[in-house]
Parts: sequence; structure tokens; C-alpha cells
Amino acid sequence: MRVHEKRLDILADVAILKKQHKTIGFVPTMGALHKGHLALIERAIKENEVVIVSIFVNPTQFNTSEDLINYPRTLDSDVKLLLSLSEDIILFAPSPKEIYREQITSNSYDFKGLENEMEGKFRPGHFDGVGTVLKHFFNILNPDKAYFGEKDFQQLQVVKKLVEIEKITTQIIGCPIYREQNGLALSSRNKRLNQNQLAVAPLIYSVLKQVKKDFGTKSVTTLNNWVSKQFKNHDELKLEYFEIAKVSNLKPIKRKQKNTKYRAFIAVFAGEIRLIDNIALN
Ligand code: AMP
Repeated sequence: MRVHEKRLDILADVAILKKQHKTIGFVPTMGALHKGHLALIERAIKENEVVIVSIFVNPTQFNTSEDLINYPRTLDSDVKLLLSLSEDIILFAPSPKEIYREQITSNSYDFKGLENEMEGKFRPGHFDGVGTVLKHFFNILNPDKAYFGEKDFQQLQVVKKLVEIEKITTQIIGCPIYREQNGLALSSRNKRLNQNQLAVAPLIYSVLKQVKKDFGTKSVTTLNNWVSKQFKNHDELKLEYFEIAKVSNLKPIKRKQKNTKYRAFIAVFAGEIRLIDNIALN
């Protein structure tokens, strides 16, 4: 496996690959890799001649310094996991300076309102950070395809808008959410959950599944109230938001309309640790 930390080194590698007309699949991650990441990487391996995985804890997309400091960093075991998939993966693990040079700042993006809902509302500036770092990565790597999890469905929609705005030719591919057997969506942040929190966290997905079941027969208000009730006075889990939104613009709805795709989105705190999940409703 080739591991690059320097922009110039990966640029040189990419230049050779482009000269050889190799198709490049890119999987951006923040490391602390788990099976959800590996599913994306496996798909990229199937669909491209070369796969580049990045591990970069992007400072501009964190909105609290505690979250940035406490974000798990497990590079040695990440490398082992990648090697267990394929020795041909190229790993790009730069420092913030390699990406941002002197100024660690974000561009200000207009993602046509996608950036103002849910995660955008509760994590101001988050999607500017995501857009900025991906713009840098796409510039450096010029991949044919890039793979993103539906676990961060809003991010996936924002990235599709980013490539449109920036006229980036990379094809953006969404991949299904990978879950534990108990339904908990895999996340690097799960590594920080204690035993009690791990035991109750599957409630998040069981609530989403029930909402999906009832979506055809119950009103949006009834469903919203029911979800709030499930977390009210909960010992371990605190609901930050639950929303049923249109897939096309991620705007929360009050009433369902015909021939429209909807998804339910949720963010929950287990102590300090923030967990998100979502489900297609129809
Ligand atoms: P992260 O390292 O959390 O920034 O995630 C890197 C990529 O992996 C993003 O596109 C995520 O949406 C995706 N991802 C994270 N967890 C999962 C999961 N449980 N299932 C599918 N994709 C995931």
C-alpha cells in the first residue's frame, strides 16, 4: 500500500495514474475506520482500477473544539484494516497544513438551502467546511468517482450540489447505511460510547423503523410527537432533532404530498456524543 502525507507526493502519483488512463475511485474519510467505511471502499475497488482513501480529520467542519479534539484517531489500525481489503489501495493522510496551507478557513457556499436544514442548523458552518475540504481533495485527486454514505444523507446531497456549483466532473455515488445487527448505524463516534450508551443507542433506529411503518397511515405531527415522547425523560439519550423532510430539498414537511420522496432524519446525544441516522420513508 502506498501511503502519502504530502500533497506533492500524491499529486505525482495521480499524474502517473492519469497518464496511464487508470480510473480513480475516491473514498474520503476521517479515519477510525469501521465496516461502514470498508463497504464504501469495497464498492470503489469493484468499480475502479485504482482506489484512493483519504484519512483527514477536517478541522473546518467541526463546530466545537471538544468534538475535534476528542474525535478518535487510530491510524495504525486503520492501515491494517485497509491492508486487509487490498494492498493496492493508496492512502492519503495529510496534515491540515498540507490541505489548507497557512489559513485553516472555509469558503462560504450557497448550497441552495440544503446547508441550512438539520445538521446545518445545529452545526453552523459545518457544510462550508465539508465543501471546502472536498473541493481541495477533488482538485488534488481528480477522481472519476467518489463514494459517500447515506448515513450522512444531507452531506451526500450537499456534495452533489458542490460538484454542480464547482463544475467538478467526479461522479458522486451514494452507498447504503451499514448497521450493527441491533440496528445501530456504524459511526467512528460509536467508539466513544460507554456500555450503557451502547445498550440503549439501538433505540434510534427502532424509532426510525416504526416511523417508516406508520408513515402511510399517520400524520406528520402525530409522528413528530410520538418520536419526541420516546426520548422524553430518557436516562441516556437526548433528542436534538427529528424531522421528516423532502428528499429533493431537505425541507421539513407538515403534510405529505403525492409522488414525493421523503426521509426521516434524527440526531441524538448520548452524553457528549452526537449520533445521527436517517431512513427512507417511501
Ligand atoms: P466519516 O469518516 O465519518 O467522515 O465518514 C466517511 C464516509 O463514510 C462518509 O461518506 C460517511 O457517510 C460514510 N459512512 C460513515 N458511516 C457509515 C455507515 N454506517 N454506513 C455507510 N457509510 C458510512
